[in-house]
Amino acid sequence: MSSPPRIVVLPGDGIGPEIVAAAVQLLESLGEFEFEELLIGGCSIDAHGIALTDEVLEACKAADAVLLGAVGGPKWDTTDPKAPRPEQGLLGLRKGMGLYANLRPVRPSPALVGASPLREERIAGTDLLVVRELTGGIYFGDSGREGDKAHDTCEYTAGEIERIARTAFEAARRRAESSGRRPKVTSVDKANVMETSRLWREVVTRVALEYDDVALDHLLVDNAAMQLVSRPADFDVVVAENLFGDILSDEAAMLTGSLGMLPSASLGAEGAPGLFEPVHGSAPDIAGKGLANPLATFLSVAMMLRHGLDRPDDAARIEAAVDVVLESGMRTPDLAAGTVAQPPMPDLPAEVEVGTAEMTSAVLDALAA
Ligand code: NAD
Repeated sequence: MSSPPRIVVLPGDGIGPEIVAAAVQLLESLGEFEFEELLIGGCSIDAHGIALTDEVLEACKAADAVLLGAVGGPKWDTTDPKAPRPEQGLLGLRKGMGLYANLRPVRPSPALVGASPLREERIAGTDLLVVRELTGGIYFGDSGREGDKAHDTCEYTAGEIERIARTAFEAARRRAESSGRRPKVTSVDKANVMETSRLWREVVTRVALEYDDVALDHLLVDNAAMQLVSRPADFDVVVAENLFGDILSDEAAMLTGSLGMLPSASLGAEGAPGLFEPVHGSAPDIAGKGLANPLATFLSVAMMLRHGLDRPDDAARIEAAVDVVLESGMRTPDLAAGTVAQPPMPDLPAEVEVGTAEMTSAVLDALAA
């Protein structure tokens, strides 16, 4: 019998420990996992003077997957450039684990469609994934300033484009395993203007030949930005270089309108562990009050199961359980009426405001049902 997957758990700061403890409960209800809980961020600064120790990084690299809560908080805010900062832990982890692909799904839960800034008929049926290249392009090229002139250089190699293209095609295939729809990748570039974009388009087109079950189309980035808000339900996987992906993933995230609902994954080389974490921060204003919304972390666990541990069916079960609980009217305060528009369907039950523990129990019950 194979040994259970080994998961390094990094709760971090603020609400991190609350939401990660809930996520561990969720995983335990699905089967056997081996957990190792370690420090990152502010709590690591308190214990070791730095936000990420070599031991923690090595443990993460040796794991099957890494689940992170959030890092940071006012206690460690500083203007001293030499003082350690919690986010150095995250950056060190991404670099040390070689995570070059950032995945952000956008799938508004039917019960929260009213929270979207888009009209319901536009957003209905949206289920897309933005795959952003994370370690190349203009953010990492040569930059400088000479008097009143400045420059930033965008560079990509065919190898960098090829590996992110593969991540996108593989992700499209995995998504199709549980959705049943024909996988599609939309590659975003600015090939009418930029040479790096022409290389991007050439390489993505070449990689696509190895994935003849996955449809491919190309969009110029300005057009992609428009299409994302005008017909979001037509997208499946969107793949983009670092700068375009940075902007489009935030645009796409806003389609749901609920920060407490957004998961993410960062992936590296095939077979290497990925890092799975909610998009939101450590929410120090509500830490320790039992009010944190654990759903973004639960959906990050679903990403871990789908993209990190090859268990797409369990991932789909978690997503369905989250939908069921939201449809029953349960809301943590961040989702409750006032911050989120009333449910659009009059036959939905009234909203009930709950805390982290009740929300967690409800999802566990829905999973077991
Ligand atoms: P934040 O995401 O922590 O909070 C923004 C607002 O959203 C707050 O009102 C908060 O209460 C609410 N919120 C966020 N997540 C929630 C959840 N799960 N349930 C209920 N409400 C939630 O962003 P911020 O206030 O700008 O940053 C707070 C700290 O988090 C800072 O130290 C920042 O550096 C850090 N941060 C960390 C990460 C990360 O670890 N990935 C990301 C962003 C910010």
